[in-house]
Amino acid sequence: MTEFEQRRQSLAAALPGAKIDALLVSSPASIRYLTDYSGSNGLLLVTPHESHFFTDPRYGADAQAKISGTVHVSKRPLIQDAAALIKRKKLKKIGFEPGWMTVAEHQSLKENSGLGAGLNASGGLVESLRAVKSPAEIGKIRRSVQVNSEAYARTLPRIKPGLREQEIAAELDFQMRVLGAEKSAFDTIVAAGVRSALPHAHPSQHRLTESELLLIDMGAILDGYTSDMTRVCFLGNPSRQVRQMYRAVLEAQLAAIDVVRSGISVAQVDLAARKVLKQYGLEKEFIHSTGHGLGLEIHEPPRIAKKEKTKLKAGMVITIEPGAYVNRLGGVRIEDTVLVTENGCQILTPTSKEFIRL
Ligand code: ZN
Ligand code: ZN
Repeated sequence: MTEFEQRRQSLAAALPGAKIDALLVSSPASIRYLTDYSGSNGLLLVTPHESHFFTDPRYGADAQAKISGTVHVSKRPLIQDAAALIKRKKLKKIGFEPGWMTVAEHQSLKENSGLGAGLNASGGLVESLRAVKSPAEIGKIRRSVQVNSEAYARTLPRIKPGLREQEIAAELDFQMRVLGAEKSAFDTIVAAGVRSALPHAHPSQHRLTESELLLIDMGAILDGYTSDMTRVCFLGNPSRQVRQMYRAVLEAQLAAIDVVRSGISVAQVDLAARKVLKQYGLEKEFIHSTGHGLGLEIHEPPRIAKKEKTKLKAGMVITIEPGAYVNRLGGVRIEDTVLVTENGCQILTPTSKEFIRL
């Protein structure tokens, strides 16, 4: 049995617990996880004993060769064919993914299947399987992380005053692709000076000056799998206040990494980072959660946040990325991708966290 067949079997085994006869999977990342199909038009119906994959003629031959189970090639909107099959098979309780279905698709599903109350919003089923990575997936994430860090290392020596944020972002993306990445996992963030205090700043036309903070948050997609890293460096000589802020965030990041292990709750990991920043009087400047899972998507469960109840499991891959953002001064965030293990964790990101001066 292939890994993809095993995953569909695990999903099938979870259907009775969710009180549904079948799950209609429409999230592209979940479809890829369950079938290895990575085209732009696919739909998957999984029942306890069967799987039905729907796509259009552009992908038909490839899908038939690659995906076991029944492959339906359709010239209509796929949701209509899936709904017709549901009707034909007399399935009564169908789960769908509310985050991945438009209102129009839901209406079409309802009309063509003849089901009303039988349609259940069943989000998160595949995502919870995806949270714990297989050795093959971990291998892919490792390579994605390495390419991402290598692209950063190649770009760093080229950074100098006068360069625009956009030019640095373009260079980072270029290096990723030269190294084999499909593309960046999200819009690369390059934010200099006071703009670094905006956690998700878009690279601008701003030219780097002789003396300012530079925050870079970047990730690659390689073989479908993402990576995520943030580093902050300084052009010129940082003030005491900036050095202190860097030290605080780094200590917070190390403290959070220190408590990561199988069995601990994500809230405790978040708290470990927050506690350190509090000691430095920076708890109010830490305005986001400590991290997130990643894999086929850049943001996946679990969220590493204060109010979450999830317990970490060995095989989860998460980011640890506390930050502090001070208006008119700038921001520091330090982010690694880490693999949760039975007794601790492995930091996958190889890039140094020393406060580099360019
Ligand atoms: Zn990031
Ligand atoms: Zn992140």
